[in-house]
Amino acid sequence: MSAPRIVVCGGGLAGIAAACEAVGLGAQVTLVERRPFLGGRAFSFTDEEGRQLDNGQHVFLGCCPAYVRLMRLLGTDGHLHRQPLLRIPVLGSDGTTALLAATSRLPSPLHLTKALATYSHLSLRERAAVARAMSKLGTLGPRRRARLDGMAFSDWLADNGQSEDAIERFWDLVVLPTCNDRSHRVSAALAAFVFTEGMLSSPTASAVGWSRVPLSQLVEPAVERFLTARGSRVLRGQAVIEAGPGGVRLGDGTELGADGVILALPAERTRQVASAALPEDPGLGHSPIVNVHLFHDRRILEDPFVAVLDSPLQWVFDRRQMSGAPGEPHVVVSISGAHAEMGVPRAELAESMADELARVIPAAREAKLRGWAVVKEARATFAPAPGQAARRPGPRTALERVALAGAWTATGWPATMEGAIRSGIRAAREVMGDAPPGTSIRPAISSRA
Ligand SMILES: Cc1cc2nc3c(=O)[nH]c(=O)nc-3n(C[C@H](O)[C@H](O)[C@H](O)COP(=O)(O)OP(=O)(O)OC[C@H]3O[C@@H](n4cnc5c(N)ncnc54)[C@H](O)[C@@H]3O)c2cc1C
Repeated sequence: MSAPRIVVCGGGLAGIAAACEAVGLGAQVTLVERRPFLGGRAFSFTDEEGRQLDNGQHVFLGCCPAYVRLMRLLGTDGHLHRQPLLRIPVLGSDGTTALLAATSRLPSPLHLTKALATYSHLSLRERAAVARAMSKLGTLGPRRRARLDGMAFSDWLADNGQSEDAIERFWDLVVLPTCNDRSHRVSAALAAFVFTEGMLSSPTASAVGWSRVPLSQLVEPAVERFLTARGSRVLRGQAVIEAGPGGVRLGDGTELGADGVILALPAERTRQVASAALPEDPGLGHSPIVNVHLFHDRRILEDPFVAVLDSPLQWVFDRRQMSGAPGEPHVVVSISGAHAEMGVPRAELAESMADELARVIPAAREAKLRGWAVVKEARATFAPAPGQAARRPGPRTALERVALAGAWTATGWPATMEGAIRSGIRAAREVMGDAPPGTSIRPAISSRA
């Protein structure tokens, strides 16, 4: 029996995962990507000075096994680094630092007790209230959590005894980078998922991980090598303009026949190429992220990264330390939910972030800024607003053997690399139906959980 031909549209992480999973299930895959490179919203590029920069700092957590498994399958997991346990230095506007660090020996949720008890950016009363709300989140369970989707997380927090300071200095510290907006614009169900999966599910769930190398190096040329070795292929720089159950048509007129099609595209593109697969605009909207890369003449951070309270800096990453390689000092200010920053000219943003760094980090006052680059991603993620769950479709469409994938689909996760990869795996299983498992790679990523 010949292998089913599957076309995967979109070479972001969802499409890459779908392609690898389908190959593992016995398919012959063509992965089609509009841009000349794979990786989608998680990519790196070379700037005018010849530096390799990520479009935005990407981190993953200990609760993201599919991401690590995909990189292992591609043979690039050696470039990943992960903290053994959560450890975040949090700088306050008064110049003090509180360490949010999990302790290893205690079972969840006790592994966070010390971190909360010593979190000096809140009063003792506020810390006790945070601990109570955390333990309530831990008892909600998926069904009760899902019922909170219509509510803003800030309202849930206020109903559960959280002060405005606690929301800003503790809850939003986590909600902003994971959901890509502040609690008042975030679905309580989505934020509750983040805290239960990412902080409470196990002592290592919240450990932060990152790539030591520029993001594109995780997938280029590994994906192509992986697929071609298994009788499949990658087409870059080719846009799908029409897709349906029998295959797809590309921008240059080429038609690719297929036994199954996976649409791993942004929602708006999905509707353009196959409106029958997504008849209504899901109306999810977008939330922006701005990354400001700064190159000083010396190292300015002691830690690989810090969170900064009461400041537009939000989170600052020392890419040099994170890469573990020698080279020019390089920090990245990563601003989530960056609605206001999108309209600010790049040079102004770079200057104001450098000034702000000098204000809050003593070592930055002595340092000279040698260069900068600003990346604005207007459509970085879907908007995590209340009501998001009902707007996110599952993999199945009205078209036979045409499935949807993408971080924006109904994964239960915020717009993350992990969510994208899970959606791709699920879509591959959907189009492959009860196809016998292939012999070329075994086991596929899904079964390596
Ligand atoms: C600045 C920034 C920072 C982020 N930080 C984090 C983080 O720290 N941790 C985390 O987990 N997530 C983070 N994310 C989110 C994460 O990058 C995304 O959720 C994930 O990469 C989305 O993958 P995807 O495959 O679903 O979609 P996409 O990456 O959007 O992939 C879709 C692909 O389809 C292609 N395409 C579009 N139209 C066509 C067409 N007609 N034909 C063929 N191909 C087409 C696109 O070029 C693209 O490659 C961040 C995102 C950004 C932008």
